[in-house]
Amino acid sequence: MPTVTKLPELTALRAAELLRAGEISSVELTRAVLERIDAHDNKIHAYLHVTTERALENAARADEQLRDARRTGDHAGSPLRGVPMSIKDVISTRNVVTTAGSRILENFLPVYNATVIEKLQNAGALLIGKTNPDEFAMGSSTENSGYGVTRNPWDLERVPGGSSGGSAAAMAADEGIFALGTDTGGSVRQPASLTSTVGLRPSYGRVSRWGVIAFASSLDQVGPMTKDVRDAALILSIIAGHDAHDSTTVNAPVPNYLNALELAGTIHESPLRGVRVGVPREYFVEGMARAVETTIRAAISHLESLGAEIHEVSLPHTAYALPTYYILAPAEASANLARYDGVKYGPRADVPGDVWDVMRATRGQGFGPEVKRRIMLGTYALSTGYYDAYYLKAQKVRTLIKRDFDQAFDQVDVLVSAASPTPAFRIGEKSDDPLQMYLADVFTLAQALAGIPAMSIPAGFSDGLPIGLQLMARAFEEEKMLRVAYAYEQTTDWHKRKPKLV
Ligand code: GLN
Repeated sequence: MPTVTKLPELTALRAAELLRAGEISSVELTRAVLERIDAHDNKIHAYLHVTTERALENAARADEQLRDARRTGDHAGSPLRGVPMSIKDVISTRNVVTTAGSRILENFLPVYNATVIEKLQNAGALLIGKTNPDEFAMGSSTENSGYGVTRNPWDLERVPGGSSGGSAAAMAADEGIFALGTDTGGSVRQPASLTSTVGLRPSYGRVSRWGVIAFASSLDQVGPMTKDVRDAALILSIIAGHDAHDSTTVNAPVPNYLNALELAGTIHESPLRGVRVGVPREYFVEGMARAVETTIRAAISHLESLGAEIHEVSLPHTAYALPTYYILAPAEASANLARYDGVKYGPRADVPGDVWDVMRATRGQGFGPEVKRRIMLGTYALSTGYYDAYYLKAQKVRTLIKRDFDQAFDQVDVLVSAASPTPAFRIGEKSDDPLQMYLADVFTLAQALAGIPAMSIPAGFSDGLPIGLQLMARAFEEEKMLRVAYAYEQTTDWHKRKPKLV
């Protein structure tokens, strides 16, 4: 039985096993995680809001249900009974403050749960807190939150990545058991890469966006942020699936992603024999840190040693992903953010004048600088006279980017690359230069534009800072990517390292 101080280190799968077996209680586990948050979150600031009382109440209830289930022997339907979850604050939680990291939603109480929350709660998980994001998920460092920056547990002077930096930092610091993030252009994968955790962006349409505060609706996806690959598979199986509330979800059966791993897990010498791994040449670019390149090349050799066939492939339109994304995402954001007018949600500026004066003041005070920049960029790209030159053109390039991946996946099963061109950068290092900040996303935008799944897993360190390996697969072929990730993880130790927190 693990000692109480070790409880926060548990994965969701292991915690659920111990809970079912009655070796630990949910109250014990929840309390241990809360204590861990108490001890370290004053330095890290992964959480905006910790739901202490509610979590302990729900844990006590879960313990009763676990006791009943042990008596009847029926544990069906609650694979996460009693397991705490940490949720990015852009995901709506009923009666629990949800701000999207924005002052314009200060104290906002959603009246319903996002579908992903309903699904996790039905599986038995309990909310422990809401994690800090960049405002409306716009950013790559979690410095754009209206409520302060989150620090990287591996080096408190550095960013944890973003925009799901709070969820990633919570996982790295064991201030939680599993988490959810959202990924519009890398926000699950890049912070996972910078914190030595696992972050998975599902195929577009795999997971419901209902109740997720919209940034760019054709790109947004919710994804698991976890301590290992098995947890990512487990959580994905739970949150995936068709939702009548989100017409972009695909009505197709959800595989049991965890079982897919167990099959691959029958350990033999060459677990990846016959698997074709593509290395896109355009993902080794100038400006990427030497240590990142060396680490990714070493990871590729490792996959080869596990039996994979390595193929160099080309994704010729890669260079256009960044400009394309930074037209389409702001365009959609400018439309999505029109609803924050001080009338429907959140605080209203107390100024004299008519409705326009009130809206102007509310938006002027409520939005931070990056959000305003995106609204202006997006409005410009959609305006008469510029629509064809920017928005329409970007849509066409998006199709070319998608086609690149379609062609590559005719030749290979998965693609691999770095998830971030550099390890974690210093807090403040890029905040005055939006273009530098946007470049942090070079390796994570194309997959989002193409709607394909991608994930980052721990693959090494440089000067004590984590480096993640990105894996990608054809849309709705998450299993292939997960199997390769699992084989890599099971034969390396990177995911076992923990930051030293004092
Ligand atoms: N960093 C990218 C941006 O700022 C992606 C953010 C995200 O995936 N939510 O738009």
